[in-house]
Amino acid sequence: MQIIYSPRYNFQIPFLDRVYWFDGRKFARVMGAVEKVQSTIKTVVRTPTSMASMEDCLAVHDQAYLDTLKLSKTVADVLEFAPVRFLPNRVSERLIVEPQLWMAAGTMLAGHLAWTHKMDIYNIGGGFHHAYPDHGEGFCLVNDIALMVKALRAKGMTGKIAYVDVDAHMGNGVAHCLASDRGVVMVDLYNRNIYPQNPRALDRIDIPVQISIGVGDYEYLAKLERALSQASERGPYELCIVVAGTDVYQKDPIGKMGITEEGIRRRDRLVFEWCKSMGAPFVALTGGGYTKDSARLVSTSVIEAATRYGRTSGGPEGPPEVLDLSEEDAAEDGPVSGCRREGDIDVSGDVPDVVLAALEATGGLCVQDRAGDGVFDGDGFGVAGVVEVEEVELDRMGARYAQVHCPRGLEPNTGQAVWIAGRGWLEACGG
Ligand SMILES: [Zn+2]
Repeated sequence: MQIIYSPRYNFQIPFLDRVYWFDGRKFARVMGAVEKVQSTIKTVVRTPTSMASMEDCLAVHDQAYLDTLKLSKTVADVLEFAPVRFLPNRVSERLIVEPQLWMAAGTMLAGHLAWTHKMDIYNIGGGFHHAYPDHGEGFCLVNDIALMVKALRAKGMTGKIAYVDVDAHMGNGVAHCLASDRGVVMVDLYNRNIYPQNPRALDRIDIPVQISIGVGDYEYLAKLERALSQASERGPYELCIVVAGTDVYQKDPIGKMGITEEGIRRRDRLVFEWCKSMGAPFVALTGGGYTKDSARLVSTSVIEAATRYGRTSGGPEGPPEVLDLSEEDAAEDGPVSGCRREGDIDVSGDVPDVVLAALEATGGLCVQDRAGDGVFDGDGFGVAGVVEVEEVELDRMGARYAQVHCPRGLEPNTGQAVWIAGRGWLEACGG
């Protein structure tokens, strides 16, 4: 299994979780937990190299709707969070729309890798199953699942796809976006007492399983098992898509399903094992989850899946996608060897040459700032400077930590990132 993640998935809105029901840094927290055990689970992390483009989105969404995504009003309506309406359009686009487009690109990359390399992929993000072709809903601006399926079909994938949606909410947007693709077999377990309660979508879902508020683990897992065995009869599948929302959790104020932490673990194990029994690779997406425990629940699922389905080699070569901090590399290079450098380096020029030159000159550890203006504001692309490694240590699990001194701009806990040559992004996560 491989993981897909980018620091750009995170919503860089300070204290978002205090005023809204979503922790904008959930994805970084998940990745932080995964990185701590990465050397033991030996997985590979890939990063999408660009956001989903308007052209990608047009495969599913109307131009008229996509045009409105530039407006704070649209974003506020989709998020059902009125204060966003008062943000300048460009700010809401950058802080809210773009992270979703990055996650959509991650989902598309996941689908591509799963199909072409027959490998299991966990995208730490995505699962925007409420977005319709002509409008967004329920926090979902673009439907990454439909984008992935449409892209795969355009590339010639003709086999059946199992869509297993175990998020607490019904995948109403997916049902509409993929209404005419009957090669996608939809299995959806959802809380019938909460949003979206959409009977039209229900017509498209092949195996709908309606759950009531407060269902316990036992009944939930029994129904899931039954639904999956019904789905087996409709196979074989070339690919399985899993929306593994953790909003089914018993403390979740939105999902209200009453499932325990152990119940979620068993659910994910059941679903992934079923995908394997079908002989199909899976693409897992994180979906919803609105408690302080959500990041932990997701990271447990990711780590367990990575442990169970092992390290998968293969896939396209070279940076910037591959982050591989395996033990073999550590033994070969020593901890973050090739990433040490004294002092700063002055670099200027165009991407990608300037990035490559900086990496070559520094032996590997440099800070990217996408505008090239020395401010880590996530806009554009360029090299701002070089960080010095002050200290490197291994923890008990063999994970490597680098204490770095950043000459300018890089703030801890803000989702900014350091690029380590050939190894990927290291987030500025410590104080
Ligand atoms: Zn949900």
